[in-house]
Amino acid sequence: MSDPGEVRVPDIGGEEGAEVVEILVAIGDEVEAEDGLITLESDKASMDIPSPLAGRVTAISLRAGDKVSAGDLVLTLEVRAESAEALESPEEPNESKSAISGEVPATSAGGGGEVPATSADRREAESSGASEIAPASSPKVGFERGDQHTEILVLGSGVGGYTAAFRAADLGKRVILVEKYPQLGGVCLNVGCIPSKALLHVSKVIAEAEGMAAQGITFGQPKIDIEKLRSFKTGVVDRLTKGLAGMGDKRGITVVQGTGRFVSSRMLKIETSEGSSTISFDYAIIAAGSRPVELRGIPYEDPKVIDSTGALELAGIPKRLLLIGGGIVGLEMAMVYGSLGSQITIVELLDGLIPGCDRDLVKPLERRLKKRFRAEIYTGTRATEFIVSESVIKVSFEGKKSPESAAFDRILVAVGRRPNSDQMDIEAAEVEISKDGFIEVDRQQRTNQPHIFAVGDIVGNPMLAHKASHQGKVAAEVAAGEKSSFDARVIPSVAYTDPEIAWVGLTETEAKADGTEYSTGSFPWMASGRSLGMGRTDGLTKLLFDPASKRLLGAGIVGPHAGDLIAECALAIEMGAEATDLALTIHPHPTLSETISMAAEAFEGTITDLYQPKKR
Ligand code: FAD
Repeated sequence: MSDPGEVRVPDIGGEEGAEVVEILVAIGDEVEAEDGLITLESDKASMDIPSPLAGRVTAISLRAGDKVSAGDLVLTLEVRAESAEALESPEEPNESKSAISGEVPATSAGGGGEVPATSADRREAESSGASEIAPASSPKVGFERGDQHTEILVLGSGVGGYTAAFRAADLGKRVILVEKYPQLGGVCLNVGCIPSKALLHVSKVIAEAEGMAAQGITFGQPKIDIEKLRSFKTGVVDRLTKGLAGMGDKRGITVVQGTGRFVSSRMLKIETSEGSSTISFDYAIIAAGSRPVELRGIPYEDPKVIDSTGALELAGIPKRLLLIGGGIVGLEMAMVYGSLGSQITIVELLDGLIPGCDRDLVKPLERRLKKRFRAEIYTGTRATEFIVSESVIKVSFEGKKSPESAAFDRILVAVGRRPNSDQMDIEAAEVEISKDGFIEVDRQQRTNQPHIFAVGDIVGNPMLAHKASHQGKVAAEVAAGEKSSFDARVIPSVAYTDPEIAWVGLTETEAKADGTEYSTGSFPWMASGRSLGMGRTDGLTKLLFDPASKRLLGAGIVGPHAGDLIAECALAIEMGAEATDLALTIHPHPTLSETISMAAEAFEGTITDLYQPKKR
């Protein structure tokens, strides 16, 4: 017998089937037996399809405009117990009972519990044999309930988690958001993107003021009130996190503060200083993020050793700062401390700063770090020994050009981040993780447990806020029964250093490594009137095209505002734009955005703002 919670289109007569003209209920609605669910119109009549039982709507499988026929799934109900009992018949007592108290049987459409959203989708899925972008299957009912029960539990309130929670609530789901800290927002809002960019703005203004000397305007040396600067940064963070809490509240989301650990694939235990409680869930979205990698041998117990979170606390301005790790996070902080007066030394184990980014984009940053801060940069170098004294740490190095040792007042370690999957007893939920500790997910952000999703840093690289938020939306939508998947072609990366470096899609480094055919079009900012007017000549816009189709494959930009400019290239790649599209789109003059259309013109050979000798 079919699941009594699955409401199907009855025999409505007429050869052509019928059209859904209106959906009368929403996910989460409580309905009584005989309440109208949808309105159908066939060649014979228009009729409302009534609910056979009382219960709560958990998934809707049709949309207005769909063509349906007898047997098609209309929606799924979590059937109210008394209604289910009334349904029990002497002929089939066991089947109807098992559907209420235990497993939901396989649906007639999917055979495995995956229910495509509309009949059109179902036909598509059936004909392709794919259920890859199907919405979530009906949750199992009848499992052990916790002290609280929710439809969707979100673990972690960072960008991935709060986005998922907000979207799920907007889709009518009951949501509990679990966060270990009192402030929502995770790394990005509290100790990542937002405070670092607030401080980088200060660094940029100082640099611009210094740069004006070349144009005949001289300002005095900046006077730095570190307390005021710190409270400015904290104020920005507080404003955003309070705003988040307010938006969650308005959406009716319950926030539970405490550390969550799985006790089963249906239950999370929350530990707080006051005790513990449990929450059972129909669906869970794990968005528990990442934390800094710690290297062996580094004396982390000494307060002179800090990570990015410690650096953002601005406890003081060290005279000599050693940065271990030449990635984006560390370089951004080095920029801040360099502007505030620290002497910067950078050691990076690999051959260059910002591994993975094209060297021609990184070069202008290296030059500026050396010129502006007299920074010492040692690549291919390892910090081998640390001798801690009261006021300094003496560090020994192993590298071709590095000194043997040097003393520093503070050491900032920024050598990458690792997923937090080892901090929540994930094995109790039977969720699979990779050998690097990342939770493995499909394009719908679903783990090997079909009702558990994961998003953000905890599912892998790139560890970026904008990736986390997009994934959070997908997970929430799929859990709420929508047909959704993460199918971004590209995810842009930005270093908010001075100059900024941004890239998206294919890089030349990757293309050379894997033999991808490409041709470039570049525009040096030395030829940009706008850039010269800003006193900057160190920028470059570089576009990578497919030589055959002329489609944009990747882009790299270095220069002020590169992070804002790269968005156009990301859109161009998503839209499958060709060089001509970029070249013929009229960009406003004089702007830095023109460098994108001019790089496309350079590729096409139509540029007039540069002289390019004719290719023979
Ligand atoms: P997180 O932000 O890490 O949030 C996870 C949340 O889960 C945390 O609040 C944590 O307390 C909570 N949690 C974890 N385990 C549990 C548990 N067991 N119980 C309860 N709660 C738990 N990205 C950008 O895109 N742009 C930038 O400019 C940028 N700048 C950065 C600067 C710095 C200094 C750093 C460190 C990172 C930066 N990032 C940036 C990266 C960005 O912050 C992350 O990619 C993003 O925060 C990931 O979001 P998330 O939701 O996956 O996880």
